[in-house]
Amino acid sequence: MKVGVLALQGAFARHADVLADVGTTPIEVRTPEQLLGVDALVMPGGESTTMSMLLDITQLRRPLVERIADGLPVFGTCAGMILLASSVADGRSDQESLAAIDIDVRRNGYGRQIDSFEADFAVGNEGLSDWELPFHGVFIRAPVVERVGDSVEILARVDESPVLCRQGQVMVASFHPELTDDRRIHELFVEAA
Ligand code: GLN
Repeated sequence: MKVGVLALQGAFARHADVLADVGTTPIEVRTPEQLLGVDALVMPGGESTTMSMLLDITQLRRPLVERIADGLPVFGTCAGMILLASSVADGRSDQESLAAIDIDVRRNGYGRQIDSFEADFAVGNEGLSDWELPFHGVFIRAPVVERVGDSVEILARVDESPVLCRQGQVMVASFHPELTDDRRIHELFVEAA
């Protein structure tokens, strides 16, 4: 399986390493042609305002919207989650989200005091048997999920806030799963893709 990693800006390199580890062929995506050749796509962390602008400059936005509507499996982490959300609070006025998953997020929502932190949490829901060991999540100026639509599964929470959600073929994480040695989140995405 060819899994694209949107490589316009941000933390894409480590995702590609992890995707190779879990048995896929990672492809860095910077052009519409590259996007057309992949079976799934990871949208990494970074700066969502810059990434939104680069989606327009590279003319990737429209083919991306079309491929997601056609069922392309997509996994957005941190800034990638922000770009996929239906609504973004505290974004820049010209920042446009793809509205691919029915959640509302607040950029940098954890505030200045704890703008980066790490937390252990369980992953699971009724349809997915709980993992025996918790996942260690690294949160870097992470978005807070403030609303979740009825058709969205919440796969993990920290305190009350959802940190891993899925709706159909779109999965989002507010943390950086590529920064630890634990491959289970990427496996979860690849197995469902
Ligand atoms: N705060 C960043 C943004 O708004 C996201 C941070 C990240 O991806 N680690 O895009």
